[in-house]
This record gives sequence, structure tokens and C-alpha cells, in this order.
Amino acid sequence: MAREGEMEESLLDLRAFLSSAGSSRISYWNETLGDRDGQGVLWARFSQSRDEHGDLTGAPRWKMISTPRQREAMSKLLCQFCGEPARMPDGRLLFLNSKEECGPNPNTTIRTAQPPFCLKHARMAPQRCPHLAEHGYVALLTQSAPLYGVIGTPYQYTADRTIQAMACDGVPVPYGSAALDWIVAAQLVRTPRAYTVVNLEDL
Ligand SMILES: [Zn+2]
Repeated sequence: MAREGEMEESLLDLRAFLSSAGSSRISYWNETLGDRDGQGVLWARFSQSRDEHGDLTGAPRWKMISTPRQREAMSKLLCQFCGEPARMPDGRLLFLNSKEECGPNPNTTIRTAQPPFCLKHARMAPQRCPHLAEHGYVALLTQSAPLYGVIGTPYQYTADRTIQAMACDGVPVPYGSAALDWIVAAQLVRTPRAYTVVNLEDL
């Protein structure tokens, strides 16, 4: 979740990069190495509210996602609440997903942008996260959850040479897709594989 005072600050720095081969992609005019991930996808820039010790400050804004923290927790498989490694002693990962993401069939392929939880914080999450409380949730245990792609804002380069944001439909775009050349990523997405649905109280 984001904190008060934090916001996205990508837009003013965006520009189109045109290669000599005729291809184009979205980039920052002052891009640095950390702006792209290992697959070359551009990430949104987002301010962080931290004090001089690096600790988070500002009241939690539960409904708003902090892009850098979502990306870090998802890529390193850290608990989305405490930031500690989320793997259980037996090596499995625990994801909580809202019921609407999981669908009626227990074997549905799930693409999730929700980083995993450690066991302690999984037990607390349904009380503290309004999204899970409102929509109901399913707890999944899995041995592996490979990276799938990103959710982000698509941009277009208009005839008058300006860059325009288009509506984000929230659908994950897989790594390898050409559409990623014109997307600024905001959330990293994984696919929990061969998961079992569990009851949190039984763990
Ligand atoms: Zn935790």
C-alpha cells in the first residue's frame, strides 16, 4: 500500500525513443538503469515517504499501491506487509487473492499482482485490507509462482508528436509481448502454479 504524500511522478519525464531501425518505444529523457526491469520494461516513477532512517512515514493509504514496494516485494517474494522473506519453513508461498480474481473453478489459472504474505501477516490481512474484507478471499499455497508480466498504463505517440496516456484496463500483459514497448509498468504479476486452496486457520 502507498503512504500519504506518495505519488506517481513519471509523466513529465516521458518521451518517445525512436530507433534508427524504425521501431519506437516509450522511455524517460533522463532514464537510468533502475527504470527498466530485467526484461527491459519501463517502470513508473513513484515518490516514497521515508524519514532520515529510511523508515516509512505517512498514514497508510490502503487502496493505493506503492509501485516500487509492490515491485520489490513481488520480485523478491517478500511479505507485502513486513517486507521479510515470505517463504514458509517448508519452502511454500502463501498468496491471498480476492474471490473475484480466483473465479468459481478451483483450477483456474490465476495471475496475481498481490505479493505473498508471511504466515503471521496473512492471518491479519483479511481484517486490515478493505479489498479482501469487501470481496472475500482465497488463500493459496504453492511451491512456485513464476513471473508472468506487468499491469501498467499504455501510452501512444500522437500525430502531433505528443505522448498520451490511454486507459489502463488492469489486464496483465505478458513478458515478451510487443505491447510492452509502450507500457509504463505499475505492478508486477506472477502465476501461482499447482496451488492448493487452504484455510488460514489450519496453517
Ligand atoms: Zn509479514
